[in-house]
Amino acid sequence: MIKSVLIANRGEIAIRIARTAKRMGIVTYAIRTRKEPEAVYLSSVDFVLDFPETDGKVSEFLDIDCLIYLAREHEIESIHPGYGYLSENAELAERCRENGIIFIGPSPEVIRLMSDKVAAKEIAERSGVPMLGASKGAVRNIDDARETADKLGYPVIIKAVSGGGGRGMRIVRKKSELSQLYKLATAEAQVAFNDPSVFIEKYLESPKHIEFQIVADNHGNVIHLGERECSIQRKHQKLMEEAPSPALDDRLRKKMATAAVALAKAARYQNLGTVEFLLDSQKRFYFMEMNTRIQVEHPVTEEITGLDLVELQFNIAAGRKLPFRQSQIRLTGWAIECRINAEDVQAGFTPSMGIIRRLRLPQGNHIRIETGIAPGSEITPFFDSMVAKLIVTGETREQAIERMLSALERFHVKGIRTTVPFCKAVLHNDTYRSGDFDTSFVENRLSSPI
Ligand code: ADP
Repeated sequence: MIKSVLIANRGEIAIRIARTAKRMGIVTYAIRTRKEPEAVYLSSVDFVLDFPETDGKVSEFLDIDCLIYLAREHEIESIHPGYGYLSENAELAERCRENGIIFIGPSPEVIRLMSDKVAAKEIAERSGVPMLGASKGAVRNIDDARETADKLGYPVIIKAVSGGGGRGMRIVRKKSELSQLYKLATAEAQVAFNDPSVFIEKYLESPKHIEFQIVADNHGNVIHLGERECSIQRKHQKLMEEAPSPALDDRLRKKMATAAVALAKAARYQNLGTVEFLLDSQKRFYFMEMNTRIQVEHPVTEEITGLDLVELQFNIAAGRKLPFRQSQIRLTGWAIECRINAEDVQAGFTPSMGIIRRLRLPQGNHIRIETGIAPGSEITPFFDSMVAKLIVTGETREQAIERMLSALERFHVKGIRTTVPFCKAVLHNDTYRSGDFDTSFVENRLSSPI
């Protein structure tokens, strides 16, 4: 069993990881940064380590040298990267391996494969997973881009090969826009990901985003834990998620899950992973990408499976076999997650900064809250705007929606503006309630967000 863990992250996910680690008897270490010396997550661990003095060029949770140094200096057995930051960075996983530290996640080889979206698509295609029409690998130049787009038919989407976080994507609706958007996309990809290469894919106007949770041990066992519906997005970023998806019946679920598991097997995947698909209006599904970390929205899967995904991560990293077979996984009830972001919805979702003056959170049997803030916490521009996740369960989707609305009514925060009014507007919307919504919902169907 793993004895100790350095949590290379902050906020709610650091607290989430510490909670499971403590329950498992793993000694927990967090990192204090100068930007947030009194953050709540620091009180969730056994030991707090100060981040070493550096030239400040690399932000703390992105500094591989320092993380390795801290783990070695304090003889910490493993590093958990959480999500974001270095969670999908093959170099950290590799450096951990070289230094005899257990990386809580897949092998560097698997991370490297999946973080290259073109390589990931190639292996998905070889495993028989349905694919959208796309360029053969990265496009070489503007002529190649033009030829590919002509062949696919407009609209198309230009994506960064090393992209992530909804950044570096450009939708091209007409031929006349291609050359300018291609230039923008490559320049943006260079700045954001230090890699200018892009590929082109057929753009679906109104698809659903549906992803499958995969869990794989180091002994070749791969299973899935059902899907998550993540179509409530703004600017390609998820805002609300649920499990299961109202769009799937058992047959389609099985087909998509089989494809996701086949891909994970072909990639010799280990640990937790997510296979993302787009589903079109004819219920045809297409591979989009595979994420090699724990996802922000993992709690909805935990709620309907009764499993602790962080515990699985630790146990798999320690070399244990999966403690169950596919046939033992039961999906029960319905779970919805609202991301509560410090944003002013009325002002176009602009960041809302300030000090949390008052915080009253809903409580109850069917309510789960993951947060890294407390009264007195300061919301600064240094970090991600998500300040809490509210997860609610019900026996049915309708019940989960009603319970979520009631929980949101009792969610009170003073000092900053949040996306609570946005979440309420979605939950009241008839299209959302019908279950027949897609990624264009927020832009097209939600006439007035509050
Ligand atoms: P990232 O890795 O940056 O998050 P993804 O490839 O996961 O990017 O895509 C993010 C979102 O962009 C998807 O959830 C979907 O809403 C939209 N998207 C991506 N590819 C397509 C496509 N080919 N057609 C339509 N929408 C797409």
